Amino acid sequence: MKQDRAIRTARDLVSAGLLDASRLDEAEAVARKYAIAITPAMAGLIDRDDPDDPIARQFVPDMAELSVTPEERADPIGDLTHSPVEGIVHRYPDRVLLKAVHVCPVYCRFCFRREMVGPEGLGTLAPEAMDRAIAYIAGHPEIWEVILTGGDPLVLSARRLEEMMVRLRDIAHVKIVRFHTRVPVVEPERVDEKLIAALKASGKTTYVAMHANHPRELTEAARAAAGRLVDAGVVMLSQSVLLRGINDDADVLAALMRGFVEMRVKPYYLHHPDLAPGTAHFRVSIAEGQALVKALRGRVSGLCQPTYVLDIPGGYGKAPIAGSNVRVVGEGEYVVSDWQGGEHAYPPVGSRGD
Ligand SMILES: *Cc1c(COP(=O)(O)O)cnc(C)c1O
Ligand code: SF4
Repeated sequence: MKQDRAIRTARDLVSAGLLDASRLDEAEAVARKYAIAITPAMAGLIDRDDPDDPIARQFVPDMAELSVTPEERADPIGDLTHSPVEGIVHRYPDRVLLKAVHVCPVYCRFCFRREMVGPEGLGTLAPEAMDRAIAYIAGHPEIWEVILTGGDPLVLSARRLEEMMVRLRDIAHVKIVRFHTRVPVVEPERVDEKLIAALKASGKTTYVAMHANHPRELTEAARAAAGRLVDAGVVMLSQSVLLRGINDDADVLAALMRGFVEMRVKPYYLHHPDLAPGTAHFRVSIAEGQALVKALRGRVSGLCQPTYVLDIPGGYGKAPIAGSNVRVVGEGEYVVSDWQGGEHAYPPVGSRGD
């Protein structure tokens, strides 16, 4: 179905054929807590006849979101514990997050920042707060990289983005500017010449990490949008969340990672789902995640391998959790397993003259 306007309410979902009218009350109850937004590009991708459609599951609200489990928390990755000034999260010495905006073109039902993003959330950083955030970056020479996230920084106008980038241009110790965004996939037409010029206006090396979770999201339009960015000299990375019922399958993950590589987007992170409130129905276990990334290792090119990471709850940062191929068996002696599960002594037996 062609949809030319974003879906923003439970009623919109019903009229777009994405929600049965009998579930309107439920969806409204969920929407009172967590906003709804689905762009035309994404609404058009949903198969209305598939009750488990992986695109619908990411964006159409579900009653399960109102069930909060004891381990879930409003700030699952501890942003607030590392925020020296509004809009900045400084957890690692050499890089900061700059959260200029708290709205997104779509609202993902599994979002790790769901308590902070949304039209009723914090909105856009006020000019004085932005001044303080920029001053913080300028005042900390150890900051080598500025990561714009949110919210989705690419919802800002090209003019606003350019203003911000010009301010970063003047900070000599910042060498890298990275954007985390879902826009190339969910609103690819937004990635036009003006927006791309704005992203690059810092004059720094510019990276864009594009968020997508299912190979069907990598449409012709999304591929073209990423292509425009790469052609303009932007380095593209991918970021995906491992999600039950969406991509917890080796074939789906392989197709997703291959799709990224085909579009010149280097797979970067596969995130273990965070403990955001009301997202238990999306979670897989770490053991399941490890089995999936192991299957991926055997099946597809090294170019297609993301790093499987967990953001440790409480603000301790990200840790790779793919499990190890190497075991220590003695002093300087190891056993290394290959992609087919075979085990090999290292150094090889007999190679040390014994
Ligand atoms: C995820 C994150 C980063 C970026 O980490 P990389 O491993 O460099 O991608 C930086 N700061 C904070 C606070 C983060 O949560
Ligand atoms: S686009 Fe990112 S920040 Fe926005 S709702 Fe989705 S996961 Fe959350």
